Amino acid sequence: ENASQGVLATGVYSHELDIYSESRLTLMSDLKEALIQEQTSLHYQPKLCLKTGRVVGVEALIRWHHPERGWVFPSDFIPLAEETGVITQLTRWAVERGTADLATLTGDYPDLELSINISARDLSAKGLVEWIQAALQRHNLRPEQLTLELTETAAMEDPETGLKALVALADTGLRISVDDFGTGYSSLSYLKQLPASEIKLDRALIIDILDSESSRVIVETAVNMVHGLGYQVIAEGVEDEEAAQLLRDMNCDRLQGYWLSKPMPLNDVRRWMAQHNSAAIGFAELEADEA
Ligand code: C2E
Ligand code: MG
Ligand code: MG
Ligand code: MG
Repeated sequence: ENASQGVLATGVYSHELDIYSESRLTLMSDLKEALIQEQTSLHYQPKLCLKTGRVVGVEALIRWHHPERGWVFPSDFIPLAEETGVITQLTRWAVERGTADLATLTGDYPDLELSINISARDLSAKGLVEWIQAALQRHNLRPEQLTLELTETAAMEDPETGLKALVALADTGLRISVDDFGTGYSSLSYLKQLPASEIKLDRALIIDILDSESSRVIVETAVNMVHGLGYQVIAEGVEDEEAAQLLRDMNCDRLQGYWLSKPMPLNDVRRWMAQHNSAAIGFAELEADEA
């Protein structure tokens, strides 16, 4: 009693109450059920290489259609799944589903890459490296075709364990991407230790690069810094062509965003790829501008 009063006073207990409230627990047991029953699916958002104008890969984003609630957004259940540990089941499902889906596209696009979002909590999961390798082998995919996107803030919660797992994963040949860079606790010293291949600049930095000189300075500096560290840089949340062109001029390697495409179901990706793969995307306009 006394102990709970103590934590109540600091606000910790009420936070816990919130996490474990009945409706949130119900949502988590529904989520476990949804993963088993395949009420969840992955939508895929293309990634464009700004050097070649070609689509180089797709990012998997979970979608959940709840039988009573309808569509539930990732922002409504991912944080809770992370707090309760259900995230690891979700990640395992996403790796399985994503690699199976990618395998259906690699006949036409043998080098296509897949990005999957993972949580820092996954890094302490038993057998993580093994089940990821098994999924790749099962679907005849090369490790370098898989990128694991980890948000920067999450990655820093338990640096030591996290770093060890990341090194083990990177040693298998897959790529690590630091997602949402530029938000949260930007520790540059941590960034330099990561076995990363790619840094993804957060949408918050990209959103006003056309209007804000300071945003332009930050993005351009970030691009140069990331290159200096030997990583590739990708911008997320690019919504218009002018921003895409500016990013290319800043030497940003890749981009994603509504300008190129929204996330789509697998069948739409296949159709979209067929339409867009024959010509370099967006560069007709971009090159015409330069001439
Ligand atoms: P994220 O990985 O940073 O993904 C980018 C989010 O921005 C996605 O939202 C995407 O639909 C949205 N987006 C992409 N381009 C644009 C744009 O041009 N404009 C705007 N306004 N938005 C854009 P979504 O799908 O709702 O996912 C939100 C977050 O939930 C993700 O952020 C990721 O952190 C997490 N998430 C989604 N799927 C998974 C998953 O399978 N596993 C894990 N662990 N996390 C996931
Ligand atoms: Mg991501
Ligand atoms: Mg992101
Ligand atoms: Mg973001």
